[in-house]
Amino acid sequence: MKKKLVSILLVMGMAVSLLAGCGGSGTDAGDGTESAASDSEGTGNAASADSDSADSEGTAAVSFPLMGENYAYEQELNVIDDNYRNYYEIFVYSFYDSDGDGIGDLNGVTEKLDYIEEMGFNGIWLMPIMPSSSYHKYDVDDYCAIDEAYGTMEDFENLVAECHERGIRVVIDFVINHTSSSHEWFVTACEYLATLEEGEEPDLEECPYVDYYHFSQTQESGTYYLVDGTTSWYYEGAFWSGMPDLNVENEDLMQELKDISAFWIEKGVDGFRMDAALHYDESDYTINTSALNEIYTYCLSLDEDFYMVSEVWDSESTIARYYESETPSMFNFLTSSSDGILVKAAQGTSSAEKLVSKMLDFQETFSAVYADYIDAPFLTNHDQVRVANNLQSNETNIKMAAGLLMMMSGSPFVYYGEEIGMKSTGTSDENKRVAMLWSSDADAEGMTDGPEDADDFEQTFASVEEQLADETSILNYYKRALRLRNENPEIARGTIAIVESLTEDTTAAITKTYEDSTIAIVYNTSEEATTVDISGSEISEMEIRGYLTLTTDEEITLEDGVLTMPGKSICILK
Ligand code: CA
Repeated sequence: MKKKLVSILLVMGMAVSLLAGCGGSGTDAGDGTESAASDSEGTGNAASADSDSADSEGTAAVSFPLMGENYAYEQELNVIDDNYRNYYEIFVYSFYDSDGDGIGDLNGVTEKLDYIEEMGFNGIWLMPIMPSSSYHKYDVDDYCAIDEAYGTMEDFENLVAECHERGIRVVIDFVINHTSSSHEWFVTACEYLATLEEGEEPDLEECPYVDYYHFSQTQESGTYYLVDGTTSWYYEGAFWSGMPDLNVENEDLMQELKDISAFWIEKGVDGFRMDAALHYDESDYTINTSALNEIYTYCLSLDEDFYMVSEVWDSESTIARYYESETPSMFNFLTSSSDGILVKAAQGTSSAEKLVSKMLDFQETFSAVYADYIDAPFLTNHDQVRVANNLQSNETNIKMAAGLLMMMSGSPFVYYGEEIGMKSTGTSDENKRVAMLWSSDADAEGMTDGPEDADDFEQTFASVEEQLADETSILNYYKRALRLRNENPEIARGTIAIVESLTEDTTAAITKTYEDSTIAIVYNTSEEATTVDISGSEISEMEIRGYLTLTTDEEITLEDGVLTMPGKSICILK
């Protein structure tokens, strides 16, 4: 019955989309799938508690307890159903191929949801899935369809339903800085401009699309390109000529973007990742923050839990300024890449003391602009050299970086493949987006070919299949770190205070208080074991709640007020 209702509404949605470009209305139509999804979220999380046992389904059987033989602190999962999530960023093209054509697809993502859930993720970010002629699909031809190589709209709806069944929220890339140069809006505008006489002004009533973009009769900068078939019309393409920049100050365009938002919310999408928000308008950031706010406010009116995370690849002060948009999250670029605070603390080029003071600084800086902000820390994304390269394939430091990320406030994002320490090579984007290494056998089921222009290079660390079976692997470290995060909601949501008396150089301690619960996190980022005497400090009454060591045979103990911590370890107390 429900299925039938949904398909009737789908047909209606398609009919509307022929008229409005994208099916502007029909948002309430999505309620059928939406409520079905949220109903199941509670049970989805409960189910994952059981699946940590030895005989979990969907992945290779694990014959060891996740947290180790001697670990006495395993807690109940305590996953709160809000917008603080553990996100997994997926490049569909290189992830998992369900039909054997070598290109990853949506059904492939669906097939790997058990894996994603068992890792401890409860949100996914899909890089662009809309039709596009590029392999990366950041130049969109049509905002209301699925790229054929990735599957069908039905596949997408199925993926969303399967995610919601597991308590996983779905965020999709929404690229509104630019369209592809073959998008109908742009093609129509260019064709119209080509009909004008020299010096004739365009009539927006005749062709409103002319104002959807930044057209000009002068070549304002090096990023302006001549419009085909004209001698005096130029358009802005800040990234390249194939990506003409949209004009988010145009109200008709904003209405189209809202209609597109409604279309995807009706499909069950839980949030948008806003690509290149820094570049909507290059001269005045308030144009960008107000565009973000306008779209987000509209989305919230359709889905009160709607999430938005924006890419503002810039300094801390600029990122902070974008919180004036009063949208939930900005990616925290200060935590990412080789000079980010997490990699530096993990490899010891910066101290734990520095790390926690930076964490406090983020809290103060961002909350001063927008109290409800949710930080979005990450180690790498699809535009950045991978962690294994930044850390010279040092397994210890790769684990430590992951552990530090998983103790951060907010919603951490993990780029696919980082959980097995995948490498990139050189600086080409294709090499940062190669095939997920599911198996050491390149012909194994689901393995993709990856981008055509990527170089052929060997990975240092073993495949998912092998790492799942290895208690000491990077993958199982990630899983343990995510488990701690899913046991302790204070990690994501708590207000940070530094325990000054216990914080010096490679040792640091903080408390995080969420509602009426306070935990402490104690870090030892040194390679050497250390002792931390917590007696006499403000956390002296606390007991060990859990810990994260490089391998499961290393323990953290608390005796007579003294914590004994192996090198590169993290302890949670409560
Ligand atoms: Ca495929």
